[in-house]
Amino acid sequence: MGKLYQKYVSEFSCLASACPDTCCAMWQICLDEQTALDYLNDKGEIGVIAREYMRGKPCSRRLALKNKKCPYLTKDNLCKVIIDKGEQALSTVCSMHPRFVHPLFEDSYEFLSLSCPRAVEMFLGEVKNGGVSYIRHDLQNPYLLQFYEYVCGISERFTQFDVAKETEKTLGADNLITELFTAVFDKMEYLEEQTADALKGLSYDDFVMGCNAFQREFGKEFFAEIFKYFSLMLYNEKSPVLPTAFIFAISVCALYSKFGSYEKAVYKFVKETEHSERNVKNTIRIMRSPKAKTILRGLFCFSDIYGD
Ligand code: SF4
Repeated sequence: MGKLYQKYVSEFSCLASACPDTCCAMWQICLDEQTALDYLNDKGEIGVIAREYMRGKPCSRRLALKNKKCPYLTKDNLCKVIIDKGEQALSTVCSMHPRFVHPLFEDSYEFLSLSCPRAVEMFLGEVKNGGVSYIRHDLQNPYLLQFYEYVCGISERFTQFDVAKETEKTLGADNLITELFTAVFDKMEYLEEQTADALKGLSYDDFVMGCNAFQREFGKEFFAEIFKYFSLMLYNEKSPVLPTAFIFAISVCALYSKFGSYEKAVYKFVKETEHSERNVKNTIRIMRSPKAKTILRGLFCFSDIYGD
């Protein structure tokens, strides 16, 4: 089996109680069946909590949240399962996060999800140092390789010009992009009220301001890298992957104006979108609509991102 992966995946280590966010709150904690049974049969406090908070049927079990957090999260933001039983007792999802593996035929794509503040720090560090390195190892199926090379080509073009400036050349781009933000973010499934309010109020001016701020801090490579990240993360979804990656990339830039923090704009956005199947599918559906195509038709990159 071949794989494409971000070179820094193996260097990740969790910030634990120093994390400004946590991956153990707001969303469902899914458990593989063996781990669920181990917890349910545990004679100590792990078992007591499991029997109170475990929901779902065999093979699709999850933990209900307590005050919006995993019931195993201590008041110091540490994991009670690790404290009591060691890391080997974690479920597959918990032990992997934020490392993800997307399988595609004979190959797979491995990456660090940017919903994690530490992964964002590493990603931005890579961008500052010349870009994220992706390693291709023994890829078997031509599809992933072709897709990767196509995305690299578009990303390379994004490093050659100022995205916000290019967008300005399109007549009425301000209203069109604001309209697109509204269409995508008005009906999303949200985890956090603060991010929901920020996303629902995004405008074209936020995008221009944020895009310029990211560019000043990280160079033109930031837009190219975040577009590449979303494209590859979505690669096993049905098309149109690239327009969805584009709208996600400009939204991350726009969110900077609401949070005033590069890292927070990235991980808050990714947490709300990437890990909700409903939100991704909804955005893809909107990007497939004739209206979205009309909105994006005038933009400089339309033909590339829609493959026209
Ligand atoms: S979000 Fe990342 S850094 Fe924070 S607790 Fe989870 S894995 Fe660790």
